[in-house]
Amino acid sequence: MTLPSTPLAMAEDSVKDAPRAMIDLRSDTVTRPTAAMYERMRRAELGDDGLDGDPTARELESLVAHTLGKEAGLYVPTATMGNLLAVLTQVERQGQVALEATAHMFLTERGGATLSAVMYQGIPGAAGEMDLNLLERTLGPSQALRTGLVCMETTHANAGGIALPLAHMRAVHAMAHDAGARVHIDGARIFNAALALQVSPSAVAGYADTISVCLSKGLSAPAGAVLVGPSETLSRARQWRKMLGGTQRQTGILAAAGLEAITTMSARLAEDHATAHRLGVLLRDALPCQIGITKPATNIVFIELPEDVPESAVWAEELRKHGVLIRPWGPRRIRLVTHRHIDSADIDAAAAGFAKAAGKLLDRTPSSL
Ligand SMILES: *Cc1c(COP(=O)(O)O)cnc(C)c1O
Repeated sequence: MTLPSTPLAMAEDSVKDAPRAMIDLRSDTVTRPTAAMYERMRRAELGDDGLDGDPTARELESLVAHTLGKEAGLYVPTATMGNLLAVLTQVERQGQVALEATAHMFLTERGGATLSAVMYQGIPGAAGEMDLNLLERTLGPSQALRTGLVCMETTHANAGGIALPLAHMRAVHAMAHDAGARVHIDGARIFNAALALQVSPSAVAGYADTISVCLSKGLSAPAGAVLVGPSETLSRARQWRKMLGGTQRQTGILAAAGLEAITTMSARLAEDHATAHRLGVLLRDALPCQIGITKPATNIVFIELPEDVPESAVWAEELRKHGVLIRPWGPRRIRLVTHRHIDSADIDAAAAGFAKAAGKLLDRTPSSL
């Protein structure tokens, strides 16, 4: 549900008593900090991260690096900046980044090319995986642009929150390194991926040189991300962060929430996967069968709307009247994301909202189908 804006002093428990608000399935970014995060933020040891360093930010950087089996880390304001730094530090100007054609870094972040002078080459594929033959061609010596970095995204947001199979990651990693390219993982939701694959996060991160992790999605921190990788790469990333204006001062206040997120919040992501699964099951009951519902691998459910039903924006408007917030993902797709503020009662209510919306928009009740 959407929670009312919370004053810093207000503990999470008192927020829970607020009147039941909208069921917010737009994104796991809507998650609010936990009471333990506020407490840790209040007690955080602080320094000037632009002068001699902030001790809490440093602690977070080494914790995430250690968790993912890498030498060093860098706290950044957003995962978008983490991904951009991975490009700026690992690809020469006029070089190229190769990545799956529906990756977030391609569809949403490639405007970074205006800063990096690095081309983004989308590689077609399926289920979040690049076609390996096409990748091999892109990495080949005959290409005009040298590919300096290959990126993978896991979990893959536009592929419905799928966790890339480790065999695919291993193949991409080997192919890239054979061609002299580095590998980066856009691991905004890498903890969800590790959970779905039932391996440690470092096992997933093992197939990359650098990884960015978002702290403000299911992990519930208010802001921030961490880029990890080799020490030498990360010290250049620190210089680039400064140039981009991403060096903050007493950033330990935010990093403290990130520490709490990394140490305590990844374990509960299993609940989000379970609620997403339940949402998928209930929606298949609530909606007529020509509307496709993906089987969620993690915390994202996609609804595919055929041409003969109203567009996603119309559904969003109708569902809002029934207390459900959803995200149109193009005209024919709806995205639903589960997170810490969605429990099984919310899932029941959301499915009931969909049934009512379908009754209105499809001009017949689902039970009569
Ligand atoms: C959210 C997201 C990002 C960007 O994260 P921000 O912290 O919002 O910049 C990058 N990649 C993927 C896959 C994401 O889901």
